Amino acid sequence: MLSNPPIICDTPIKIGRTTINVEIAKLHTRTLLEIPVIVERAKKDGPVLLITAGIHGDEVNGVEIVRQLIAKKYNKPTCGTIICIPVVNVFGFLDQRREFPDGRDLNRCFPGSKKGSLANRFAHFIMQEIVPHIDYCIDFHTGGASRFNYSQVRYNGDDKKCEELATVFGAKFQIRSSLRSNSFRQAASDAGKTVLMFEGGKALNLDKLVTKSGIEGAIRVIDALGMRDFSLEIEKMKPREEPIIITKSSWVRAKYSGLYRSYKSNGDKVMKGDKLGSISDPYGDFERIVKAPFDGYIICTNHSPIVNQGDALMHISKEYVNQ
Ligand SMILES: [Zn+2]
Repeated sequence: MLSNPPIICDTPIKIGRTTINVEIAKLHTRTLLEIPVIVERAKKDGPVLLITAGIHGDEVNGVEIVRQLIAKKYNKPTCGTIICIPVVNVFGFLDQRREFPDGRDLNRCFPGSKKGSLANRFAHFIMQEIVPHIDYCIDFHTGGASRFNYSQVRYNGDDKKCEELATVFGAKFQIRSSLRSNSFRQAASDAGKTVLMFEGGKALNLDKLVTKSGIEGAIRVIDALGMRDFSLEIEKMKPREEPIIITKSSWVRAKYSGLYRSYKSNGDKVMKGDKLGSISDPYGDFERIVKAPFDGYIICTNHSPIVNQGDALMHISKEYVNQ
């Protein structure tokens, strides 16, 4: 819950929309770098939901999801407050790359420090100025590089509220995943916040189906938290598929280097021994079939046409339950 009167980043939050342009750094060109934080506060007090994307600057699909939530005014609650940060890592977004200009992955720098590297300082800022005000967070990500994640929501299985919201979100795959050290999700969870992490699509790519599932998930969560009645919108959505809850997963890696062709689609169920794809040299002499080492669902596939030995090809669920 917000304090009264609510103040975020030294800015009083009035009823309705407040855009805070947070000055985070000056570039070496002296250009001031600002991160817009868009706050929508209802007349009626209630939960505070933070919606973030672009912690990795090249994960544009998440940015598109938050952009559409704002453009369609779905971020206007009738109870409580919704804070949207569509592009957290503005540096990376400018350069179309994952990292901060200091080469660090922001999502490995939390909770950050006041006098550390640029990424550490920024993580510290988010933890000090934004996170204390929130109750819930949905953080949007995509697969890195050419790895395409099937729409999935990751959550802390030990947190019952988090599990409940993951089910409400309605992605086909619900992944009970441990908290990665120094990630935003870990730091915010340690601060007592309920955090859902969405993964869908791949870096530097927009995918309509992924965008749709991210938006629909956010709407369902906002509705379930009692922040706005979206029952009409939810009625129009395709009914949710029965979720598949994944408790363990593993990557199938390339045993050879070469041209890679996949025979399966993301989201497919495969059985042990099924042909997943093939790897060949470019000269027509050598070709090897990649087989499924166990039964499971494909939750991420590598779209790269050329792979090196050891590269991740497919992420497959190892232990799962159909609800
Ligand atoms: Zn990411």
